[in-house]
Amino acid sequence: PVVTRFAPSPTGFLHIGGARTALFNWLFARHHGGKFLLRIEDTDRARSTQPAIDAILDGMRWLGLDWDGEAVFQFARADRHAEVAHRLLAAGHAYKCFATPEELTALREEQRAAGKPMRYDGRWRDRDPAEGGDRPFVVRLRAPTEGSVTIEDRVQGSVTVANAELDDFVLLRSDGTPTYMLAVVVDDHDMGVTHVIRGDDHLNNAFRQLALIRAMDAVEGGWPDPIYAHIPLIHGSDGAKLSKRHGALGVEAYRDELGILPEALGNYLLRLGWGHGDDEIISREQATEWFDLAGVGKSPSRFDQKKLENLNGLYIRAADDARLASLVAERLGVDADGRAVIQSAMPVLKLRAANLNELAEGARFLFAVRPLEIDEDARPLIEGGNAEVLAALHTVLDALPHWDTEALETAVRGVAEARGIKLGAAAQPLRAALTGRRTSPGIYDVLTLLGRHESLARIADQMA
Ligand code: GLU
Repeated sequence: PVVTRFAPSPTGFLHIGGARTALFNWLFARHHGGKFLLRIEDTDRARSTQPAIDAILDGMRWLGLDWDGEAVFQFARADRHAEVAHRLLAAGHAYKCFATPEELTALREEQRAAGKPMRYDGRWRDRDPAEGGDRPFVVRLRAPTEGSVTIEDRVQGSVTVANAELDDFVLLRSDGTPTYMLAVVVDDHDMGVTHVIRGDDHLNNAFRQLALIRAMDAVEGGWPDPIYAHIPLIHGSDGAKLSKRHGALGVEAYRDELGILPEALGNYLLRLGWGHGDDEIISREQATEWFDLAGVGKSPSRFDQKKLENLNGLYIRAADDARLASLVAERLGVDADGRAVIQSAMPVLKLRAANLNELAEGARFLFAVRPLEIDEDARPLIEGGNAEVLAALHTVLDALPHWDTEALETAVRGVAEARGIKLGAAAQPLRAALTGRRTSPGIYDVLTLLGRHESLARIADQMA
């Protein structure tokens, strides 16, 4: 059975790269009918925060990435991590190193000066620990020095590192706390993780982690190699690794500030690094059916805000009107009656919007209070001769027996023709008078949504 996990460090918000890693793990597990687990790697006590944990959990729920069982908190498992280190120690697969920090700094300086890679030289590997006396010590893995390790990575392909390049890294610090390297390996084992799918910035760690796994397998058995898949990181439009500088935000900012729908962000993240032919719009169900690691590209993908917005527009048009109405009502701070008004206008409103902010902006005219505040840039549209156009429109519209799209269109066209002006020269002042803005849903839709009484009153407010 397949078991995957998402293992974020709660030192910041759930960013785009993390969300994509979570999505790929979720899809892989769901595709195989396996489990998707969540582990909060909160061992960095100074930098891990509760708001960051909450943001990660919220973001995952919002994206529909439900995890199986309870989230595992890594810090709470420190005793178990230490227990594994002591097993390795007892079995001779790890050893105590009494080298002082000053000594190790000097070693690094020497290696740097000689132009050599900086790594621990194994000075306590074969010494009698009794020589350390009661001085503080760290516990290091007795890593193989000969031969090489090969990882058949499902994304990167076959990757080999000579064991001579890996040093005897630390498992337990001198205060007895586990290192990240130890904690990850023990937790993945205890959680039964079969597939480690994560960013390729962790590929180097994988070789060390594998050495540790194999040592434990030699000691007690039942520690199989996991299958690795290291996904290329996301880059910004300039090709550099995605960072805040590129406007890369936490997932909640895409929701709250940019007004992106979760299914649009999910679809966009899926396509960022994974492909299924030329398909762009892929539902979660289809993605679950199709997802495989073979479809993950080897080169970094570029984050494109414009593409995300385009995709979001398509999802807005496909979304349920009642749901969109609630989201917009929340943004505009209107009550249930307001929500009902928005919902009835939604088929028209959603035709243009690329995000929920635009949708909310487009709906604002429905709640404007007379006399309308006219946007600065819309003001010329109701001034001078345009005020007379409005008066002419008012007369004709007021006389209409039926307030329907067809009658309204005929009436507005008639006024334009009679005055020898283009349709737009009549429609734009009308738009400004009715909505206070230069842009809005189609003018006949605006007229029908507002109704006869309100429309005529708003026109009268602005006419000459
Ligand atoms: N906590 C690590 C991170 O946030 C992930 C470790 C892993 O996936 O093995 O980068």
